[in-house]
Amino acid sequence: MVNYRTKIKKINMSEISIAIHGGAGTLVKGTMTSEKELAYKSALKLALDAGYSILEKGASSIQAVEAAVKVLEDSHLFNAGKGSVFTAEGTHEMDASIMDGDTLNAGAVSLVSGIKNPISLAKDVMEKSEHVFLAGEGALIFAKENGYEQTPPNYFFDEFRHQQWLEIKDTDSFQLDHATKKDSKFGTVGAVACDKNGNVAAATSTGGMTNKKWGRVGDSPMIGAGNYANNETCAISCTGSGEFFIRGVVAYDVSCLMEHKNYALEKAEDEVINKGILKIKGDGGLMAVDAKGIISMPFNTEGMYRACKSSKGREEVLIYK
Ligand code: ASP
Repeated sequence: MVNYRTKIKKINMSEISIAIHGGAGTLVKGTMTSEKELAYKSALKLALDAGYSILEKGASSIQAVEAAVKVLEDSHLFNAGKGSVFTAEGTHEMDASIMDGDTLNAGAVSLVSGIKNPISLAKDVMEKSEHVFLAGEGALIFAKENGYEQTPPNYFFDEFRHQQWLEIKDTDSFQLDHATKKDSKFGTVGAVACDKNGNVAAATSTGGMTNKKWGRVGDSPMIGAGNYANNETCAISCTGSGEFFIRGVVAYDVSCLMEHKNYALEKAEDEVINKGILKIKGDGGLMAVDAKGIISMPFNTEGMYRACKSSKGREEVLIYK
């Protein structure tokens, strides 16, 4: 059988493309104003352009996804970095992961506090340690040894997020971005890209869920669940109900369908997002790009903050279906 990657490399070596998301937990349609919509779309566009310009200069997909995710982490609009939700203790615990589809190298961090850009820390775990996944205190020691400063808690304070937490603070409930009741802003962030050499990469970063406790970790930092990249198939960044995405091994499942069943990207994604994950009642979506630069952005929720751009001329910044 012809290997998927060999097939696509022969067709095109130079298509560049990037797709980013700001989470599948969008504001419900009725509560979206034109000002808010503009703010979200401008933030997405900024991140998209940051990543795309790196690809245009001929740099790697890993550099592009890191740059795009950093812009999203620096915005208070999304649930990652600066805009991270509050834990049950009133703190912020962030998770992030990154993967290089060329080498299958990966790096991830979870339960980190005071780190402005967790995605860069995940990249440093990949590049500067012998490990893949560092968590909590240990990850912070690694960060310190690699020159990261502790950013004070007020940097991560957002009044809206705070109110969101106060509403459920003394209860046992937690607020997942994808709960149907939501009328608030939400959104794990992520990016996938294909560079001019046909190398793909994926990056995902999140604050998790409001009022989370016991060191809860979702799918976002878990390689194979919320994030995965393999040049033989595609790069994927997920957003959704983390517990279900972990059980569905969503990102790797898409890749597996392509690798072992020879599915095209869109067919594999449809199978996972609109069939597989729904069977266990998981909601959310994903961003994916294959080594031909083909982008797909499926979701089974009302909307997903998303944007994409390719050298073939595709450019979109969207929120709802
Ligand atoms: N998947 C994330 C988590 O469970 C949440 C999200 O995508 O909004 O932590």
